[in-house]
Amino acid sequence: MAGKCPEYISNLNDYLDGGVSPELCAEIQAHLGECRNCRIMVDTLKQTVKLCRDGVEEQLPQALEEKLTGLLRKHWEKKFGRK
Ligand SMILES: [Zn+2]
Repeated sequence: MAGKCPEYISNLNDYLDGGVSPELCAEIQAHLGECRNCRIMVDTLKQTVKLCRDGVEEQLPQALEEKLTGLLRKHWEKKFGRK
């Protein structure tokens, strides 16, 4: 069940950018409704993105985005990967 989380996480950057299809967007939102962990992750990401955008009026550098995604993945795999 929790195995789906990494899949959503890998889409969260796009989700926050509004770059996902309406279908996937609805799916993610539904998932966020029932998965507290992902919700927290989105909040954190949102804040990070907002902070970056407030500080520098530019998009989140891709390197940072990749780093974030990698970190989140690792975190999730560690938490749920082996179960
Ligand atoms: Zn989740």
